[in-house]
Amino acid sequence: MSHHKQPGTEWADRHRQALTTRHTHEDVLTDRQFELLLEACSALPAPLDFEARFICLIAGRLGLRAGEIAHFQTAWVNWNRRTIRIPQHEPCQCGYCRRQAKQETTHNDDLSTTEALTSRWHPKTVASARLIPFDLSLRLELCVERFANRYDAFPRSRSTINRRVQAAADEANLSGRVYPHCLRATAASYHAYKGVAPVPLQALMGWSDLATA
Ligand SMILES: [Zn+2]
Repeated sequence: MSHHKQPGTEWADRHRQALTTRHTHEDVLTDRQFELLLEACSALPAPLDFEARFICLIAGRLGLRAGEIAHFQTAWVNWNRRTIRIPQHEPCQCGYCRRQAKQETTHNDDLSTTEALTSRWHPKTVASARLIPFDLSLRLELCVERFANRYDAFPRSRSTINRRVQAAADEANLSGRVYPHCLRATAASYHAYKGVAPVPLQALMGWSDLATA
């Protein structure tokens, strides 16, 4: 059987691929589950309560990745415009960045770990550098303000972020299906449901490919 690739089938192929590769899609939280998760954050002992709430809100409503939350700087916040700017580069030598830099050298013989580390931290892709409005709700706005006030004490590590989300999920009895990336998928689904069109949604989420939207 000959297979002629028509321009019209390209979209269908990509769509099919997106449907079969996006496993996190199944783990999107409903509004009710998300509220239960936030409620559960408050039941955690301080300061885990606030930390978990900030992480869940900023991942589950603004779509930030765990790596972006771990490297969050208050300088990314524009208080006048109420936006968060995810930069292309943020100088960092944390354990996670050092491991990532080392891993990069295993794929490239000409690259030293020191050189690889100079580009760390950077977000997942070029498209990930983006501007995110955080005044979408009063709840989010206040949470970002509180975070800025408590910034110095906030644990900025990838593994802590995973643990806080897990603690909130356990407390809410949602365990097994809640992790930072599924919160990001929850944010995307929330905004799509609210009627945000694919192109602005792509900009908000920092997707390289419009097919994801
Ligand atoms: Zn780092």
